[in-house]
Amino acid sequence: MIITINSQATSEERAHLMTLLCRITANQCPIMTTTIGKSEVIALDKSKFDTRAYAALSQQKAIERLVPIQTAYKLVSRAFQSENSTIVVGDSHNCNPVIVGGIEPVVIAGPCAVENREQLLATAQGVQTAGAQILRGGAFKPRTSPYQFQGLGIEGLHLLNEARQLTGLPVITEVMEPNLVDIVAQHADILQIGSRNMQNFPLLLAAGRHSLQRPVLLKRGLSSTIDEWLLAAEYIVAAGNPNVILCERGIRSYDPQTRNVLDLTCVPLLRELTHLPVIVDPSHATGRSTLVPTMSRASIAAGAHGLIIEVHTDPSTALCDGQQSITPEQLQKIISQTQRLARMMQGDNDLSRAV
Ligand code: PEP
Ligand code: MN
Repeated sequence: MIITINSQATSEERAHLMTLLCRITANQCPIMTTTIGKSEVIALDKSKFDTRAYAALSQQKAIERLVPIQTAYKLVSRAFQSENSTIVVGDSHNCNPVIVGGIEPVVIAGPCAVENREQLLATAQGVQTAGAQILRGGAFKPRTSPYQFQGLGIEGLHLLNEARQLTGLPVITEVMEPNLVDIVAQHADILQIGSRNMQNFPLLLAAGRHSLQRPVLLKRGLSSTIDEWLLAAEYIVAAGNPNVILCERGIRSYDPQTRNVLDLTCVPLLRELTHLPVIVDPSHATGRSTLVPTMSRASIAAGAHGLIIEVHTDPSTALCDGQQSITPEQLQKIISQTQRLARMMQGDNDLSRAV
């Protein structure tokens, strides 16, 4: 259930409502007040509410609207918000703002990892010339082995700043620890929460609460269900940050031919279930640079709002994920193809109008 608080409510009426909610939930659930647009809302699990509780709530002066939501995720559901969320990226760092979630697909591109100044700046200029709107680059890298390149850390953040100044492109980079959210948010325009951390709940809460309110790109966990993924997004939104972008990056399977299995079905399905934008990462989903162009086109045809693609000026020398990285020239071709596709489809996958 989602309660919208009456903006005219007095502090006494609000206090009365909070006392009632604590009683109904027997003080067992967190009661989080979240601002969505101009409204203050409280989302709660419906299992706590019987007819008596509903009757008591309907008398409350502090409540403007009560919306019953059947799914476990509430604020991110289409049942709560029928219009698509559009997210503005990069409006605070003096760069060219980009809208994620509109009709135009957005392409995020750049290296898996920030390796050094020369590599990052050359790739940033390459992806900009190719037509990408946002630059990616990992400063903190979640590597399977402790003996692999772990990223440049804070130095990588400074290099991303420099790349933004050079190109005007907003930047996205991964944050792995709650206590690094503030510093990463100072340098980045989007916080990336990687697959391995999709259910790192303290990190989700920190990304929801941080004062700069940067948009968050939430990648699907290696073996996560769609409901688990939407509930992870719900953590960020309920904690106070409504700007979440979902990213399908393939799920674990048994076949080592591809790194993962790209679950393209999840794209139109998510567009039914949630108002949040959905993008696809064909690089980590396939693990093979030769498959990236086809799966990029397929993702846009399935209704993705954009792509995040790994690009390197010389993939054979990449310190991380070279086998799945494409060149800026290959990216340029993908961007022109996907733009044509999107124009042809003219929002055919926009379900916000159908509900
Ligand atoms: C990445 O995009 O840099 C990354 C590590 O991807 P994932 O979290 O999807 O594995
Ligand atoms: Mn990578």
